[in-house]
Amino acid sequence: MSHFARVGRVPGDPILGLMDAFRLDTNPTKLDLGVGVYKDARGLTPIPQAVKLAEQRLVDLETTKTYVGGHGDAAFGRLLIDLVLGTGNRLEAAGRVGATQTPGGTGALRLAAEFIARNLPGRRVWLSDPTWPIHETLFAAVGVEVGHYPYVDAGNRLDIEAMLAALDQVPLGDVVLLHACCHNPTGFDLSQADWQRVLDVVKRRELLPLIDFAYQGFGDGLEQDAWAVRLFAEALPEVLVTSSCSKNFGLYRERTGALIVCAEDSEKLTDVRSQLAFHARNLWSTPPAHGAAVVATILGDASLKAQWVKELEGMRKRVADLRLGLVEALQPYGLAERFAHIGEQRGMFSYTGLSPEQVARLRAEFSVYMVSTGRANVAGLDFSRIQDLAKAIAAVC
Ligand code: PMP
Repeated sequence: MSHFARVGRVPGDPILGLMDAFRLDTNPTKLDLGVGVYKDARGLTPIPQAVKLAEQRLVDLETTKTYVGGHGDAAFGRLLIDLVLGTGNRLEAAGRVGATQTPGGTGALRLAAEFIARNLPGRRVWLSDPTWPIHETLFAAVGVEVGHYPYVDAGNRLDIEAMLAALDQVPLGDVVLLHACCHNPTGFDLSQADWQRVLDVVKRRELLPLIDFAYQGFGDGLEQDAWAVRLFAEALPEVLVTSSCSKNFGLYRERTGALIVCAEDSEKLTDVRSQLAFHARNLWSTPPAHGAAVVATILGDASLKAQWVKELEGMRKRVADLRLGLVEALQPYGLAERFAHIGEQRGMFSYTGLSPEQVARLRAEFSVYMVSTGRANVAGLDFSRIQDLAKAIAAVC
């Protein structure tokens, strides 16, 4: 008897499949705007110098590889809370906030999902339509039901009115997942006025916000990008934030992140954290240490931190300039206005507004790879390739 005889096959991740197809493409002018990683002018995803220096220091000074605790590296947690909520924030002083280190932002989301499934039974989680596809599968995997609120309209614009109207219909007490900045996949972010209105609905419907903060520093800057997170943490008794160090520290494969919990008081925080440690124990026991040690080393040292801030700002600026460069390059084709949103969006991704057919033609005729929804990773572009891309887009439009 074969135990595996009835095991079927699930399709591979479409974005990773795109990466494979790109690798096999022999066209020397191929262009990968698929997978969401930052690339520099050489087409490489660099290790920041600040990370290299911190790693060198760790090699010299690290004395043990024994397990970290269930909540991970305490110094990392404190420094990350400062980064996310601001140094000297009131929640920390009141003992109302704690961080649990997780394997990346995905681990933080998975831990949050586990907490919702087991400790807040019956709550649905509301996701933007569209959202990062893993949000959909991750909550389904723990048996949490998901609902959707609209985010973009048929004309590929942020639709804040539709979003607010939908959230106003959400059952009292449900969970709403919000992207703090650099919305994946669309690149459309809420304005501060929009966030205020979302906060009003969240209060009215007594929703629990779960804020996914995977791109701090890639939108308008480290502090600016945290604006909505801080607004919610200040205004509400209970907030969950998932923070990822994958993109802003370039630590992708080191799996570094945290689930930050804001609770009503320190007693309740301790209750919640005991649950998180329990769930984490069943999921991964204790988190991987290296990436968090690197982050703690950088954030705990003024000169390393300054170096990192400068490097992160360089990455942010590069993507913002690539956006503007592409819109400018579309000008001669009379397409600058049609694609002006690419310059207004934030973060690595852009919902270009290209149709699946146009995306397919870009790939077949120009070896330009992007997700069939028309999502392009702008960070995969380079200034030397902007003219080629504009020409290719013009040809399929
Ligand atoms: N949330 C969003 C919106 C993301 O785009 C990503 C990364 N693609 C993550 C969370 C998770 O990041 P990681 O697990 O790599 O830290």
